[in-house]
Amino acid sequence: RAKEISGPSHAFFDPALAAEALDRIAIERDLLRGLADQEFFIEYQPILDIHSHRVMSLEALLRWNHPVRGMMAPDAFIPLAERTGLILPIGRWVLREACRAAASWPGEAGVAVNVSGDQFKDSGFVPFVRDVLAEAGLEARRLTIEVTESVFTVDVSVIQKSLSDLRAIGVKIALDDFGTGFSSINNLKRFPLDHLKIDKCFTDAMLKGGSDGELVSLMSRLGDAFQLSTTIEGIETHMQLEFARLMGIQNVQGFLISRPIPADQVAELLTNGFEVSPVAMSA
Ligand code: C2E
Ligand code: MG
Ligand code: MG
Ligand code: MG
Repeated sequence: RAKEISGPSHAFFDPALAAEALDRIAIERDLLRGLADQEFFIEYQPILDIHSHRVMSLEALLRWNHPVRGMMAPDAFIPLAERTGLILPIGRWVLREACRAAASWPGEAGVAVNVSGDQFKDSGFVPFVRDVLAEAGLEARRLTIEVTESVFTVDVSVIQKSLSDLRAIGVKIALDDFGTGFSSINNLKRFPLDHLKIDKCFTDAMLKGGSDGELVSLMSRLGDAFQLSTTIEGIETHMQLEFARLMGIQNVQGFLISRPIPADQVAELLTNGFEVSPVAMSA
């Protein structure tokens, strides 16, 4: 974007814009190199059934071990990957890697993979998921795709079609970070979904005496009304866990139960369970 002045048009060099462009190129190159040099890896965080204490699935969470900046959390680079379009190859890598891992796990636990709106809108996305499942030898029902409400802001019929195509294959859909975006009850009605994930911000606030406890109760009942299973994120205390149980929420995820764990520890966890079951402890 060159700045315009009145009169004959002159393009002025804008140092801020130039710096931004250079920065963007550097980041893009960095992300590409990271992908090629296998600097990305995935940790898995268990999602437990609140009653049976069984690990229902594990959420795949992307990390970047950057050679200079060190370990980077997704919030520090996913937005950049989205801006540069590199979320497409990175997202494909995550999906393939997570499905391969899940196919190797003992038992029936599934895997949940976060997908950005840009990936989801891509017309090649559903066929890609089908190919990845076949290639990994993973049953479709063991894969959950997590999307946020931001994907619903695009063309409704396109999103509806992708969601129902995925469900036709047998893949499950979770609505992530529920309650934080453009939450609309109508979304629960018009989009085919399987799970509702109540965002951590409600978990943090629900025992602090404001309206958040009521909101969690409401979201749990919304899940029931639309026949969606509910998961609550970010459970860090026994009090929160007990409250979630009282609210009739089915699944729990959070540091109290387990932090995200390295890929090579998942099989052991699924075989032998937790050393001390945090959920059973408070029951
Ligand atoms: P999310 O999908 O809502 O994932 C849950 C986040 O909460 C994870 O952060 C997890 O480590 C964190 N968390 C879980 N339990 C607790 C808890 O008890 N306390 C606290 N303080 N945090 C907890 P993480 O791994 O940093 O990921 C952040 C976000 O980055 C994710 O939010 C997701 O939106 C995005 N993300 C992660 N991996 C991917 C990916 O492969 N692709 C895309 N597109 N986005 C991803
Ligand atoms: Mg998620
Ligand atoms: Mg979430
Ligand atoms: Mg969240």
